Amino acid sequence: MGANTGPLDHVVVIGASLAGLRACETLRTDGFAGRITLVGAEDEVPYDRPPLSKKLLAGEWDGDRIRLRKPEAFDELGLELRLGVRATGLDTERRTIALADGGEVPYDGVVIATGAAPRRLPGQPALDGICELRTLADALDLRSRLGEATRVTVIGAGFIGLEVAATARQAGCLVTVLEGAPSPLIRGLGVELGAAVASVHARHDVDLRCGVQVSAIEGVDGRVAGVRLGDGTLIGSDVVVVGIGVSPATDWLADSGLELRDGIVCDDTLWTGVPGVYAAGDCARWHNHVFDPHDDAVMRVEHWTNAAEQGAVAARNLLAVAAGSAPTPYESVPFFWSDQFESRIQFVGRAHGDDEVHVFAGSTDGSFAALYGWQGRLRGVLGVSMPKMVMPFRALLAAQASWDEALEKAAALTS
Ligand code: FAD
Ligand code: NAP
Repeated sequence: MGANTGPLDHVVVIGASLAGLRACETLRTDGFAGRITLVGAEDEVPYDRPPLSKKLLAGEWDGDRIRLRKPEAFDELGLELRLGVRATGLDTERRTIALADGGEVPYDGVVIATGAAPRRLPGQPALDGICELRTLADALDLRSRLGEATRVTVIGAGFIGLEVAATARQAGCLVTVLEGAPSPLIRGLGVELGAAVASVHARHDVDLRCGVQVSAIEGVDGRVAGVRLGDGTLIGSDVVVVGIGVSPATDWLADSGLELRDGIVCDDTLWTGVPGVYAAGDCARWHNHVFDPHDDAVMRVEHWTNAAEQGAVAARNLLAVAAGSAPTPYESVPFFWSDQFESRIQFVGRAHGDDEVHVFAGSTDGSFAALYGWQGRLRGVLGVSMPKMVMPFRALLAAQASWDEALEKAAALTS
């Protein structure tokens, strides 16, 4: 675990968002007095992404409201900010990072927190009105396009797709969601409960179509006109939002020698195996012992809480190893939330298509809570507008509780 880094005078954090900011803050709170350079591709100080599909997209909040820290905080942290410039390479022999502006930054230690970037459809045309949603700029652009009676078609019924659908519908748009899989939110919640959670969309007149194939996005005079389905149907659209998942932003590391496999492969302490180089957040794949001994214990998580915690842990472990101390494994029960219409969805743990599910409170046509289990073990807990039924299971998940223990806890909570 870890490897001696030599003297640690200059730490470079790549990716100026949630995980990167938490890494910088932790370096300082844990006593690092050397130089910290924070490199970010966007020309923005770190901001929060969850509101981009919710309150900011709805026009209730503006860009300033979602800044993660006030401008003066970056001076107080003593950061050298290099914003609006992309890292293009990592040379682990020379210990340098190449930047898109031709510059080079030397480092003693690095935390890579470059997150993830939206996937595009094969052959996706460049038409005005085709949108994606990852950045503040994307959200402001999409917001400006939504208005009463705009026909919005969303491709992908994952988190982006369904949150955008809810916000656009609430803005008065006519919304169609197209999903290739047989059910929405399969990756996050499995087939059965993904469909139950998404039933709120039908209640609000979102036209949600699963098991459909998108064959093309069509346009007229450079503007989007509609989405053509595999069966020939054309869904007329003024705006098309492509929300078909993300890929870890690791292309720039292709020649670095780091192991890349759907993310930067790390050990259980978020160490990449290269002296002084750690990774955190959406771009990091690591061994989470909470889910041992199953294969899926090596995981990458694309949610807020994970990015915040990992940024801190990666920085702490970089400092620990440099000081000759033992690093700490990052062992965590993943958590996420999603707001769609009146539903607040919360999930702790992991969900898989083959999990046994047991609804223990409420009813799937409204508010409910459910357990996910596999091979006699609790693997996750879902709550839809039932916050008090979710968090009590976090400790049980961390302790690798059995399915029977989970059923007992559920019975106690509902008695
Ligand atoms: P990111 O936030 O992706 O930041 C990575 C940063 O690195 C970016 O600023 C990027 O520009 C920069 N970068 C990339 N490549 C380079 C490079 N080569 N050089 C320099 N900089 C680079 N999670 C939840 O749990 N709940 C929610 O409700 C929720 N809502 C969301 C809504 C939206 C619209 C989105 C997009 C995400 C949402 N998430 C939510 C997920 C959560 O925001 C992410 O998991 C989190 O932002 C990941 O943080 P990160 O720091 O790892 O990466
Ligand atoms: P996602 O959750 O992975 O969902 C993408 C969906 O699009 C999947 O259901 C996927 O199905 C489907 N899809 C893929 N290709 C398709 C195609 N050609 N046609 C139709 N459907 C297709 O990703 P996302 O919704 O794009 O979100 C992007 C990122 O933002 C993720 O990291 C997500 O976690 C994060 N985010 C999180 C939240 C939250 O936590 N509340 C909110 C917004 C965004 P398959 O799985 O079958 O490919």
